[in-house]
Amino acid sequence: TIKVYTDEDANPDLVRGKPVAIIGYGSQGRAHAMNLKDSGCEVIVGLRDGSSTAAKARADGLTVMPVAEAAKAASLVALLTPDMSHEAIFASEIAPNLEQGDAILVAHGFTVLYERIQPAAGIDVILVAPKGPGDLVRREYERGAGVPCLFAVRQDATGEARDRALAYASLIGGTTAGALETSFREETETDLFGEQAVLCGGATELVAAGFDTLVNAGYQPEIAYYECLHELKLIVDLLYEGGFEKMHEFVSETAIYGDLVSGPRVINDETRARMKDVLTDIQDGTFARNWIAENEAGKKKYDEMQAADLSHPIEATGKELRGLMAWLQSDEKTSREAA
Ligand code: NDP
Ligand code: MG
Ligand code: MG
Repeated sequence: TIKVYTDEDANPDLVRGKPVAIIGYGSQGRAHAMNLKDSGCEVIVGLRDGSSTAAKARADGLTVMPVAEAAKAASLVALLTPDMSHEAIFASEIAPNLEQGDAILVAHGFTVLYERIQPAAGIDVILVAPKGPGDLVRREYERGAGVPCLFAVRQDATGEARDRALAYASLIGGTTAGALETSFREETETDLFGEQAVLCGGATELVAAGFDTLVNAGYQPEIAYYECLHELKLIVDLLYEGGFEKMHEFVSETAIYGDLVSGPRVINDETRARMKDVLTDIQDGTFARNWIAENEAGKKKYDEMQAADLSHPIEATGKELRGLMAWLQSDEKTSREAA
């Protein structure tokens, strides 16, 4: 079985002793910066000119500098801007300011695996990927816990790359919850597959298809919404807490029988073959090439597909119903950008 690394396995002083640059102050960037600061690190936030997030970083009590200056001042540079921005930022602002023995850290392996950035031989290249959105990484740290994370080494120039990754993981709370070792390839390919086939792509299409089936058969959209979207949370919570077994304990016997006979009619060998296609596109680089090309073309198709997705009738029904559910108003944004 896989080893779970905990606080005892980490030597935080390896990272705590020297300035850390956090490039980007969004979902992950803010959480990492704040947790590192509260763990006793000297943190410098690197942002571009006119950055809309700089004011927030300053209000949080952090030092903000241009990306190049932050990279120059630090011995570990965490690149926490969107994946598609890494290539340009790294080439122009970061690479020229790295010294022998510095480390570059990412929270997702895409840029490194697909060779969008290629740090020089003297630089440690490491990954620390929390398995949760940034605000959870911050909230869990604040209550003395943490979000589990993965760590990996791509290039060990100093002989301490692995210990540096573990140290960083511990400083953001990752080893309190438990850290697992992986490779850049495994983290990237499984993360992309998970969000495409199951978490974001698979789950929303399953919900939409269930909703459409009921509405097209003449049922009221509001009732279909409750059955196909709203109640999904209850089921996911049970799965999260105790797997299939716990879900079976809490749903009716009729629901279990229906699950057993009808689940495999919906998700079947054909679905598995499609999932394998999705995985193959990730493994052979087709997905990465398409996504990079889409960005280079100005994301026109991305915008069109997103607009179509958000104009599905379940969205209008959901907005109306959620407006009537007082208890939902406060935490609607908590699980945004989870993948
Ligand atoms: P965000 O989209 O939240 O990052 C926004 C930040 O990046 C802002 O501070 C923004 O500054 C800055 N930024 C954006 N573009 C540029 C640019 N071209 N030059 C300089 N700064 C820029 O990123 P995420 O936190 O979602 O993702 C960061 C990394 O973490 C990615 O590698 C992602 O795959 C990974 N990850 C994300 C998770 C998540 O929950 N979101 C989970 C695990 C990993 P400005 O104000 O100037 O726009
Ligand atoms: Mg089942
Ligand atoms: Mg992801």
